[in-house]
Amino acid sequence: MIVGCLALNSSFEPLTMVPLRRALRLVIDGKAEIVEADRERPVRSARLALPRPSVIRLTRFIHVPRRFRRQVTNTFLFARDRYTCQYCGRSATQLRPRESLTRDHVVPLSRGGTNAWTNVVTSCSACNTRKAHHLPEEAGMHLLHVPVEPHFVHLSWAVRRLTPTQAKYIRLFYGASVLHQLEALENRAYVHKSRYA
Ligand SMILES: [Zn+2]
Repeated sequence: MIVGCLALNSSFEPLTMVPLRRALRLVIDGKAEIVEADRERPVRSARLALPRPSVIRLTRFIHVPRRFRRQVTNTFLFARDRYTCQYCGRSATQLRPRESLTRDHVVPLSRGGTNAWTNVVTSCSACNTRKAHHLPEEAGMHLLHVPVEPHFVHLSWAVRRLTPTQAKYIRLFYGASVLHQLEALENRAYVHKSRYA
C-alpha cells in the first residue's frame, strides 16, 4: 500500500513525501513527471486514468531554502526526540490521560529564546508547566539530551513509511547508510504509532 508519493527534485534529490492527490495535480499540470508508478492500480477520474505515482520528479529544479527545509514542526520535533519528554523521560504512551507532548523552549521565548532546533525540545505538559518561564537549571530540571538540528532527510521520513521502490531513490542519492538510519527511525516511529492507536 502506497502511503504517499516521494517527490524528487529535477536533480533526483529526494525532497519530501506528498499526498497522492497533490502528486497527481503536479503531473497533470506538467510540473512533474512520473518516475515510478503502480500501474495495476490506476487512479481514475471522470475524464482520465493515470498510473498511481509512487515517485515523481519535478520538471524544473527548485531551490529549497535552508530555513524552510529545517522548519521545526511538532511532528518532526516529537519524532526527533523519539516521542519522549526530554525532562522526565516518559514516552507518549506513559503519559496520564490529560497530559500531552508539547514543545518546550529551553531558553523561553519571553527571555529571547528562539524556535531553532537547538532551543526546542519535546516536553510533557506537566514538565512544561513546571518549567514555566525558567531556564532548566533555575527550575532544577535537566535535559536528557542536548537538542541538535537533525538531517532534513531523517525528519522527512521519521514519521512516514517508505515502499521499497521509494527507498531505492533514497539509497541512490544518499547512500545505503542513510537509508538504514531512516529505516531505524521509521520503525521506531511506526511502533510508536501502532501502539498509540
Ligand atoms: Zn516530563
